[in-house]
Amino acid sequence: MIACDCEVCTSTNKKDKRLRSSILVQSATTSFVVDTTPDFRYQMLRENVKHLDAVLFTHPHKDHVAGLDDVRAYNYIQQKPMEIYANQMTIDGLMREFAYAFADKKYPGVPNLELNTIDLEPFSIGDIGIIPIEVWHMKMPVFGYRFADFTYITDANRIEESEKEKIRGSKVLVVNALRKEKHISHYTLDEAIDLVRELEIPTAYFTHISHQLGRHEEIEKQLPEGIHLGYDGLVITMPI
Ligand SMILES: [Zn+2]
Ligand SMILES: [Zn+2]
Repeated sequence: MIACDCEVCTSTNKKDKRLRSSILVQSATTSFVVDTTPDFRYQMLRENVKHLDAVLFTHPHKDHVAGLDDVRAYNYIQQKPMEIYANQMTIDGLMREFAYAFADKKYPGVPNLELNTIDLEPFSIGDIGIIPIEVWHMKMPVFGYRFADFTYITDANRIEESEKEKIRGSKVLVVNALRKEKHISHYTLDEAIDLVRELEIPTAYFTHISHQLGRHEEIEKQLPEGIHLGYDGLVITMPI
């Protein structure tokens, strides 16, 4: 966190250097990100991502959308609009926050975005099948996504039984665990562990971790078998 000198923010362990939460999903022929955080530009530079087919959004909070302007680089390199997939609430948010990209008379060089409104129906991007999962972020419906046996859920603190069914059978679950203390819109560490156990997911990684959770090395030791803290740059390889 800016201007913080807690043990996490001053740690020299790379795994304690937490940028905002998002993932890059890649098959042999298709690649997209889930969310464009304020750190999107640096994340794409760091991972040397040369090609991006689409952006899939979870919800319109600033820490998940703020980096969208920087898809301009892909517009330029790929010579086409960036395909955006999001629910109606998020599309509305994007049109408000990036109004200049949707203006009738656009300033040259603004991002070129092709909006695709999705609902809870499964769909595909390239050869990757996607099942949207609706989860609750206090009162906001947020989309999680399942790709084959991998499920990604950020920004949630409650999931209805019917939506939990979509997650069951996943081999890997990435889910938010903000900190140990109760929070109004995010799972705590214990709540996230309970969810993984309830859904009988063999391997889970926690994401959207606050500096308040503590140092990676310390927390990792306290976690049950099969459950880990995620970290920036973590790569998971599996069929999708
Ligand atoms: Zn949020
Ligand atoms: Zn968030």
